[in-house]
Amino acid sequence: MSTRAIINLEGIVQGVGFRPFIHRLRERFGLFGFVANTSNGVEIEVEGERKKILYFYQTLKNKTPPLARITDSHIRYLKPKGYKDFVIKESKRTSAHTALISPDVSICNDCLKELLNPSDRRYLYPFINCTNCGPRFSIIKDLPYDRQFTTMKKFKMCRDCEAEYKDINDRRYHAQPNACSLCGPDVELIRINSFRPWDRKRIKGFQAIEEVISLLKKGGIVAIKGIGGFHIACDAENISVIKRLRKKKKRPFKPFAIMLKDMSQIKKICYVSKLEQDILNSPERPIVLLKKKRRNRITEALAPNNNYLGIMLPYTPLHYLLFLKGIKSLVMTSGNIQDEPIEIENLKVINNLRDICDYFLIHNRDIYNRCDDSIVQVIDNKPIVLRRARGYSPLPFPLDRKMRSILGCGAELKNTFCLTKNRFAFLSQYIGDLKTYSTFNFYKETILRFKHLFAIKPEVIAFDLHPDYLSTSYAQRIKGVKLIGIQHHKAHIASVIAEHRIKEKVIGVSFDGIGLGLDGKIWGGEFFCGDLKDLKRVAHLEYVPMPGGDMATKEPYRMAISYLYMTFGEDLYRLRIDFIKRHHSKIYNIVKVMNDSPFTSSAGRLFDATSSLLGICDIITYEAQAAIELQMKAESSKTNRQYEFELKEKQVIIIDSRRVIKQIVEDLEKRVAIEEIARKFHNGLTKIIQRVCSLLRKEKNINTIALSGGVFQNKLLLESLVNSLRRSKFKVYFNELLPTNDGAISLGQVVIANTRCA
Ligand code: ZN
Ligand code: ZN
Ligand code: FE
Repeated sequence: MSTRAIINLEGIVQGVGFRPFIHRLRERFGLFGFVANTSNGVEIEVEGERKKILYFYQTLKNKTPPLARITDSHIRYLKPKGYKDFVIKESKRTSAHTALISPDVSICNDCLKELLNPSDRRYLYPFINCTNCGPRFSIIKDLPYDRQFTTMKKFKMCRDCEAEYKDINDRRYHAQPNACSLCGPDVELIRINSFRPWDRKRIKGFQAIEEVISLLKKGGIVAIKGIGGFHIACDAENISVIKRLRKKKKRPFKPFAIMLKDMSQIKKICYVSKLEQDILNSPERPIVLLKKKRRNRITEALAPNNNYLGIMLPYTPLHYLLFLKGIKSLVMTSGNIQDEPIEIENLKVINNLRDICDYFLIHNRDIYNRCDDSIVQVIDNKPIVLRRARGYSPLPFPLDRKMRSILGCGAELKNTFCLTKNRFAFLSQYIGDLKTYSTFNFYKETILRFKHLFAIKPEVIAFDLHPDYLSTSYAQRIKGVKLIGIQHHKAHIASVIAEHRIKEKVIGVSFDGIGLGLDGKIWGGEFFCGDLKDLKRVAHLEYVPMPGGDMATKEPYRMAISYLYMTFGEDLYRLRIDFIKRHHSKIYNIVKVMNDSPFTSSAGRLFDATSSLLGICDIITYEAQAAIELQMKAESSKTNRQYEFELKEKQVIIIDSRRVIKQIVEDLEKRVAIEEIARKFHNGLTKIIQRVCSLLRKEKNINTIALSGGVFQNKLLLESLVNSLRRSKFKVYFNELLPTNDGAISLGQVVIANTRCA
């Protein structure tokens, strides 16, 4: 008995070779009908024996093409129509999009082979791609995913490319960015000294790439257009050019990401585990933080005072071509001016980076959606995403409940936003620090694009309580929606609950930089108990003044003076430590402003104070520098001794750090090694968090712990804490797929807001 079935599939089912796959599969089962892309995904209509249809349905769900992901599927049966063949229909546009968009994917092995094969027609063509690889999110303007809705629209395929595109048995069947050197995009080299739009000497094609290689070898700094934005590249084995780039980029200490030719090059300078190799080789190709094998002048220049290097493998055909002629490693730092978004437009990049770069390797495949490189580190034997962008965005997080449509505006630093629809949370790619005007524009523009692409009209807007954040004023200007302010650190904890779909109550530990608290003070060393509906603050670090407010974040020595004054009062002048000698002249004024300064319980500021006290970092040049350098010192000590925090049990538990400050000063006076002091500080924090959690477990009978906040980017602290909590039989969760820094805030905001408007 013949029947007809309509099958609807949602998820990533467009632009990943899904329709040809369906075509081949239905052939096996002898079914007729059609398949079409819709704004919701894929629609299939097939006729044949009911048993065969069911088998076909199950097989297609289990054996999808490599990049496809089905998130939802439906089948319904109707009377047969008498189809005699099977057709692939043109795309249908429907009003409510729920189709997902694939992230950008690194070049696949098949394309790589062709790229390097002299007899292939795309030999050395830097824009080779196929259904299994290449740009996606970065070129998509609208859905459904068709060439006319991408930045490839302006390139008309030549006959050969079009034949591939139309041949269902070809790897490039409906590969929207399909192109070759005859019909597709091209690279062009621009020398800044001679740049006049009217008389520039045009060097294009592989010749331009060869020229770039020789310029890089000679110590040139070249802006190179990639898949989601420009990189600034230079030879990563040439100290003087690395130093020149640091000076030009006004970036004296912040580590540079580097791209190495292949795994054997990586193994020469870093330790790489099997898991780390898999992440480096994955289609996402993130930057992976790897432990340096040795510290020499070059690795120090690349990542000063740091035990790790941020390393990635080539991920576009163009990258592979750059490594063809002798170059083994390149600095590949984001192509931007400090705090601005990564550059994506040819003319703007030449304008904005002309003081930094000597040459520009541009191309004419436009980048529509900006996407930075993602950063991953293996912590607790798991890949932990520290910056989520290329390769991961804009894949949504599947949630455990149906949500209202909510926009979470995020916080300020390392910001993201989040939009929810049904069971999905669409977290934006890494946006950056909203303080900068152009980054704020990028933020606003990306919110509009996400709303359009995923057809979401938020009814609720969730935002941070901090009145000065641009994300907050952005939220407050939106009319006709419900506005819900969410405390920063509750949002941190909620992001872990949402990510791991935790059902039970948790002890939430948020050790963080700063976030505005409910009492108007600046929080950041907080313990909560409860669930999404209600998180109660149950413990925190003792408040100390933050002399000069925001200035104290940039100048950690201010926090050191604050802690010393809280601990020793006027006696601090008599301490026989280098810190006092170094800052003697400033102490009086700093103490004076303490009276009018905000109070903070931030753990990040305690790290800063300790770092400065030890003479590691008095003034930072990039976010969290003092804390990072303190961690690096601690990693080179093996001591298991620790400093002792004191607890004061009131309605909430207060963690008093003054005894730790005393012990640090004693050790400094005794000339104990800085590394050992740094380690004892880390061990002390681990122990006190563990102790507070145990007290809370006894009192509240909660055994599950959620950790979130910028401080937990510290691998040493997080791993030792997680291990010690597990030894005490706690169940421990922390952010894995989204960053534990403020990139997680927007997701936390939406899941809390959802409970408040039920
Ligand atoms: Zn490919
Ligand atoms: Zn072509
Ligand atoms: Fe935070």
